[in-house]
Amino acid sequence: MFLVTDLCKMKISLLIIGDEILSGETLDTNAHFISKILNENGFNINQKLTVGDTENEIINGIEFLYQNSDFIITTGGLGPTKDDVTKYALMKYFGGELVVNQEMKTYLTERYQKRGLEVNELTSLQASVPSSAEVLINTVGTAPVMWFNQNNKQLVTLPGVPYEMKYLIENLILPKLLEKFSTAFILHETIRTVAVPESKLAAILNDVEAAIEAAITTENYYKLAYLPELGMVKLRLTGIGKSQTEITANLAKWKKEIDAITAKYIYGFGDESLATAVGKLLMKKSATLGIAESCTGGFLSHLITSATGSSAYYLGSVISYGYEVKTNLLGVQKQTLESHGAVSEETCNEMVSGTLKQLNTTYAIAITGIAGPGGGTPEKPVGTVWIGVGNQTETITKKFLFDRNRTENIQLSAVYALDMLRKFIEVK
Ligand code: ATP
Ligand code: MG
Repeated sequence: MFLVTDLCKMKISLLIIGDEILSGETLDTNAHFISKILNENGFNINQKLTVGDTENEIINGIEFLYQNSDFIITTGGLGPTKDDVTKYALMKYFGGELVVNQEMKTYLTERYQKRGLEVNELTSLQASVPSSAEVLINTVGTAPVMWFNQNNKQLVTLPGVPYEMKYLIENLILPKLLEKFSTAFILHETIRTVAVPESKLAAILNDVEAAIEAAITTENYYKLAYLPELGMVKLRLTGIGKSQTEITANLAKWKKEIDAITAKYIYGFGDESLATAVGKLLMKKSATLGIAESCTGGFLSHLITSATGSSAYYLGSVISYGYEVKTNLLGVQKQTLESHGAVSEETCNEMVSGTLKQLNTTYAIAITGIAGPGGGTPEKPVGTVWIGVGNQTETITKKFLFDRNRTENIQLSAVYALDMLRKFIEVK
């Protein structure tokens, strides 16, 4: 009988190669990306190890990882320069001799000629690979993708450059792994929530979670994961197993149930960003948006303009950091600033009405706060942020107290501002 626990008996480990990762100069984003995408596709990553750019360390790393896994994916150290030794280490481990791979040489020669670059001895060296490896052409770069397979121990090499690694995993390695090793059907459904703590969601979804657990059989496995991001929680339903019909029906049923119970917190599904979801609402109303940002310094505007097609609704922003800009460009009263301060409900209100007037938009958002680490007072501690949202007839303002560092307080302010606008549009 098929068991989901057998889905991928094969254990995959990652060998991240590079002195710059060990020294802390480069953050290892490759391992994170590979783990995530393979996990989403039902594979089991059981170990990861980072080693420096020396043959010895690479070989020791491979020996160590093979003690408890069958398949190794390496990244880094594949270039033609002296400090890239991965290919030599692999030849020592798997045997064989360095031979010029004709297909790769032709590919590199054509690539260089197209770009007007010189083809020389280095090109032959780059196209040289251990005879013990099968070569896959890296269509986005020059580092060789080598697949070794000896005594049921397999290893594939990927370049360190994150963009190349990512492309090759998605387009070359993952399809090959799925074809070779996975027989199961996998489905994910993502539900995106905002401005609700994970613990509250978990309490609300208690019954759904119980139903999900009860549906697990030896043939089909289900899971609901809570994936928190700043101010938001992604709910990811996963079904892995034999029966496509059953998994599809179950996930659709639970998605609908979750949607019904947590509707007011949900802004979107799948890959949709909050800014995109808010943009859709604005487009539906044929409405426009203007923004006044103080402590966020343009971050909210950046989020809005990161959504493609934002020109259909976003007119612009006033980054009113200083008092003068608040008064001169937005018409905030000097008196208001003097008696209530820049971080106050009154100022926030006037920033909203000033934006509506100056930019002549359907909706306006205003943010004024203290991102920190300095600038706090006992009455207005660091993290105090006023956010206002309004249209020509009504403005609502809300005070928040964020307790993160400067960057995260800025990000949270933008997320909550988008959420306030989302709710404002949905109600109005
Ligand atoms: P190339 O042929 O371009 O030299 P390579 O396989 O030799 O490719 P490296 O020299 O190891 O790759 O790294 C190339 C770039 O990718 C460097 O800027 C490096 O910092 C970055 N990089 C390497 N490994 C990682 C990693 N695990 N995470 C993020 N970035 C990485
Ligand atoms: Mg290199």
